[in-house]
Formats: sequence, structure tokens, C-alpha cells
Amino acid sequence: MSRPNPTIQLLYITKLSVSRDFAIQSVEEEPGSGTEPKIKMRVSKDEPSAAARDFKVLIADDSRVYRRLVEDTLSEKQYTLLFAKSGREAIDLFSEHQPPLVITDWMMPDLSGIELCEHIRKQSRQPYTYLIILTGNTDKDKLVTGLAAGADDYLTKPFHCEELLARVGVGRRIVELHRQLEAKNLLLEELALTDPLTGLPNRRAIEDWATRQLSGAIRYGFSFWVVLADLDHFKAVNDTYGHDAGDAVLKKFSEILKANSRRSDICGRIGGEEFLFILTHTTQDNAGIVIERIRTELEATRFDFDGGSLTVTASFGLAGFEGSQLADYNRLVTQADVALYAAKRAGRNRIEVAATPVP
Ligand SMILES: [Mg+2]
Repeated sequence: MSRPNPTIQLLYITKLSVSRDFAIQSVEEEPGSGTEPKIKMRVSKDEPSAAARDFKVLIADDSRVYRRLVEDTLSEKQYTLLFAKSGREAIDLFSEHQPPLVITDWMMPDLSGIELCEHIRKQSRQPYTYLIILTGNTDKDKLVTGLAAGADDYLTKPFHCEELLARVGVGRRIVELHRQLEAKNLLLEELALTDPLTGLPNRRAIEDWATRQLSGAIRYGFSFWVVLADLDHFKAVNDTYGHDAGDAVLKKFSEILKANSRRSDICGRIGGEEFLFILTHTTQDNAGIVIERIRTELEATRFDFDGGSLTVTASFGLAGFEGSQLADYNRLVTQADVALYAAKRAGRNRIEVAATPVP
């Protein structure tokens, strides 16, 4: 790489002394002053979008001149800049702001840029932090050490302003790709746990939640109720009125279930017309009242379709405990299923409670 002409940098210093077109949120530090501010955040005055402003760049360098050179190079772009004069300050600023991009000097009085890179690689909570080392050292071995410590890129001082800008741009692109990947992964995870028709949690999601919740119920002694609900004669709805009508019924029942769930409960669809509802921190009597409300709300709902109108009912089986025994989730579900079967046999549109609590 050819050495950039030092006069370019002198021009930038001159420009800095006359051009103060940006909102500066704290006073520039004076060398030698013991109480000088350590952080300076500045944002381009042409009101960048919130997303652009969210892109923070941390610059760690003990040289005031280089901090200002980097500042002037990047301030034309819409970045929020954070400045640290030492490795320790950089660590503090990093923990506080979690900037997705860090430009660090190699040699600093307390902590080297390498140590800073290693620290960030261990600490970073966000999807990815892009690390650029900016140093006067041109030794190839050092470059290898820097990259091995977790840096993504390496630039030597004195740097070429356009090159720094371009490399920061590359870093930003990579960070944004990581963010998109993470968002897609989250979406996939959510889809894998959601019933697409009703938007309720599916069987797997309820099982995950219920298993954790049940351990808590056993440990801390709170109550835990499993309700299995099944729409009565649902096949006839699909056969007589078509699948759109069937879907409308399923969605409506989901709404009723959801409207009757509290934060400490969960309800979901676990199969065709089968739903699971788990209530915690409530007595058996109160759980019974909630289920009765759900049963009567569904019973009172009239569904109008082109081919006519109908009402639908559901049967419910309840099992659980008041938080005093050991219990197993699958056994509770089996008990609720037995109770549900009893409700069906007894004429449907009713609630049955499992005969014996789990020992
Ligand atoms: Mg230095």
C-alpha cells in the first residue's frame, strides 16, 4: 500500500479548525487537563434517519490527532461516533453502548488494541462487532496477530481517508448482514413454535413453556392446571360448511381462549380441533370458572356462512395440582385427556375434572 500524502492530513486538521458544522454534544478535551470529558458523540446535522444514527462507531486511540482525523473522516457519514482515549475507556464505552463497529489503535497506555479485540470478542452481546485495527505498525507478523485476536481488518497509519471510509462501509455491510440473519433466525424460530392458522403457540411451544413452568410450580409450590379442549363434532362443520367455515371456528375459539388467558397462562393449538390451555397461580375452583366462561362464550357464538349459520361447542378435561406434589407434565396431559374423554362420553359441551391428583 502506498503511503498517503501527509499533506492530506494537514488539510484535514486545518479544516477541523474552521469547520464546526456539526452538533457536538460535549466539549472537546484539552490535553493535560485532569477532568476533561472522555466521550464525544457527534451526529451529522443533516438529520440522519434513526437507523443510520443507531450505527455507532467506537474509536479508541490515545492520540488526539488521530481521534480527530478519524472523526473528521467519518463525520461526513451518518454514524454516531464514540471516542475513547485509552483501552479501559474503550471497554467501558463498549459495555455501555455495544457499538457494532470499533476502530482501535494498537498501542495505548493501559491496554493494547489486541487486548481490546480479545475482550470484545468475549463480551459482545449483539450479533456481530466489526473490529478494525488502525496502527502505525506495518509489520506483517503484527497483522497476523491482530487478525488472530479477532480483528476483521487492519489499516496502517497514516491512513488514507477514503480507504478508511470504504473499510468502515464494508464493516457496516457485514454487521447489517449479521443483523438480517439474526432477524430471520428469530422469525424462523417463532414460526417453528406457532400454529399458522390461529397464531397461537403450537404443541412444541406449549410443551417447552409448560415443562419449565411445572418445575417452578413444584419448586415454589404454586398451582398448575392442564386443560385439554376439543371442539365437538368438528368434522361435521368441515363436511357441511367447508374448510373456510371450519377455519373460522378454530380462529374464533382461539380468540376466546386467548382473551381468557392471563400472563401466567398459556394456550395453544396442538392438533386439528384440539387445544391445550395451562393455567398457573390459581385455585382449581377459579380454573373451573375460567373454563366455564370459555365454554359458554363459544356456545353463545353464532357463525354465519353462505350455506347457513351454526353454533359450536367444546368439551374440556382438567387435571393438575395445587402445588404440593411432585408431578410430571406428560402424566398431567394424559389425565386431562382421560377427563376430556369422560366429558365427551357424558354428552359433550361440558367440563370434567381428573378424578385423582397426580401422587
Ligand atoms: Mg497509540
